[in-house]
Amino acid sequence: MYRTHTCGELSLSSAGTEVILCGWVQKSRDLGGMTFVDLRDRYGITQLVFNMEENTDLCGRARKLGREFVIQAKGTVRERSNKNRNIPTGEIEIAVDELTILNRSEIPPFTIEEDTDGGEELRMKFRYLDLRRSSVRNNIILRHKVAQEVRRYMDSEGFIEVETPVLIKSTPEGARDFVVPSRMQPGTFYALPQSPQTLKQLLMVSGFDKYFQIVRCFRDEDLRADRQPEFTQIDCEMSFAGRDEILDTFEGLARHLFKQIKNIGFSEPFRKISYHEAMSFYGTDKPDLRFQMKISELTDLAKGHDFPLFDSSEYIGGICAGSCSEYSRRQTDELTEFVKRPQAGAKGLVVVRYETDGTFRSPAEKFFSSQDFTDWAALMDAKPGDLMLIVAGDKRRAQPALGELRLEMGSRLGLRVKGEFVPLWVVDFPLLEWDEETRRFYAMHHPFTSPKPEDLGLMETDPARVRADAYDLVINGVEIGGGSVRIHDAEIQKLMFKVLGFSGKEAEEQFGFLLNAFRYGAPPHGGIAFGFDRWVAMFGGQDSIRDFIAFPKNNSGRDVMLDTPSRISEKQMEELHIKIAGEKGK
Ligand code: ASP
Repeated sequence: MYRTHTCGELSLSSAGTEVILCGWVQKSRDLGGMTFVDLRDRYGITQLVFNMEENTDLCGRARKLGREFVIQAKGTVRERSNKNRNIPTGEIEIAVDELTILNRSEIPPFTIEEDTDGGEELRMKFRYLDLRRSSVRNNIILRHKVAQEVRRYMDSEGFIEVETPVLIKSTPEGARDFVVPSRMQPGTFYALPQSPQTLKQLLMVSGFDKYFQIVRCFRDEDLRADRQPEFTQIDCEMSFAGRDEILDTFEGLARHLFKQIKNIGFSEPFRKISYHEAMSFYGTDKPDLRFQMKISELTDLAKGHDFPLFDSSEYIGGICAGSCSEYSRRQTDELTEFVKRPQAGAKGLVVVRYETDGTFRSPAEKFFSSQDFTDWAALMDAKPGDLMLIVAGDKRRAQPALGELRLEMGSRLGLRVKGEFVPLWVVDFPLLEWDEETRRFYAMHHPFTSPKPEDLGLMETDPARVRADAYDLVINGVEIGGGSVRIHDAEIQKLMFKVLGFSGKEAEEQFGFLLNAFRYGAPPHGGIAFGFDRWVAMFGGQDSIRDFIAFPKNNSGRDVMLDTPSRISEKQMEELHIKIAGEKGK
């Protein structure tokens, strides 16, 4: 028997028992005649003690144990004199009488402790060692728990987990595909799924009724903290259900996870707000509703007063950002830079200080009367003492800039409280997005998303105004999931492809299999997919998903541990009929 107990389970109630433990040497300390070794495994840390006087030979061997050696120790549990109340095993230690070295370790490249001296790149290279640190390990265990709870809920609701293939054809989620060359059919490629979208719809045509899968998806996009080239979705689809039934079912999943994982319950139904409201009031389609600070549009009130910035702007909007006494001139200048930086792209910011004596101070004060400012204040719910921030520019850029400013102010004012969660549904997204560069419409969600029935008539006359039966689950400003009611009628699907600029032939080539399937009795259906990594990271209280993935890639999409992507041999290239452009073939 290798062990009788783990390193995380012994307590005073076992005092006097003979035990055998196995694990890694976290550290050892020599104090006079005693040597203490912290033994670590997945479950915790237990202190081993060796006594020089009682067993010189054994203690001598213990002194030679290096960090991360794998050992087995047999001994007796006893009460510790110097107790550590911070760990569950802190009241006991093991007086060891037999020690076996199961394996030696080289000195690890960084200290395997919470406060490690290893930089990110080094820890990624030796990820298997980083995973020994309890915080990283706990993230992976949290991930496991969330996955179990997802399965529990989905199963209880009658959903069936079905695996779908990884070598497929291009899917229409709008990102770049990863592709795999075929050896057997020279010159052809599989694409890795950006999502199993079309396959789950086919499962509905097959009559599976309710499907889910915790599934890996692949998108070749530029990376950020919350993006990885391969990531995991909780992918779901159901038949014979309209939008509200779908939302209720998955609100149920969200509630189940919050309850089981965080012990948080929500007394009210999740709010539903339209995309239009989200953009108008929060400047984003994923509002953080942990705080209010709604945006008010001032375009009509503020234009026509000869103030050049406003008169030359399509849109003017403002927020009331708390008390003005806190803000120096330098700080408000910083905010101006913030909204004007190229990523935000508003034309400018005008600060209005609503003084406690009821007067207004602003760089734009000569263009507006006190009554004008009072009218703005009324609209923005500003009181004497408040700071009003007014942003102007093209609507397409000024609204999001104001949205970012709102978040920035929310953070500065401490209104985005960690550990508080405000979930909501954003609904009624536009069906299509116009792209100036290519001068065509793109599906805002994907081309299988159903237009709202009442907007169907606009499809050919005014496509930009058509709203979709699409929805996102947003929590604290993060899009946790998104989905839609699907088109199940082959004619509407063809019309959608037409509006998207696909010729009949192109649609047939790319999605013929789906259009064909729709000819054999497709039920009304819809679904959603959740970003599993993101959700787990949110439950773990962090922004970056990387630490919740056992073997993640870095910001350039490299796995530095496996050292990949990497070259393949000439022979493999030949078999795959591949040559690198610009390189001489053999
Ligand atoms: N396939 C979609 C996505 O990955 C989600 C859905 O519509 O169910 O975003």
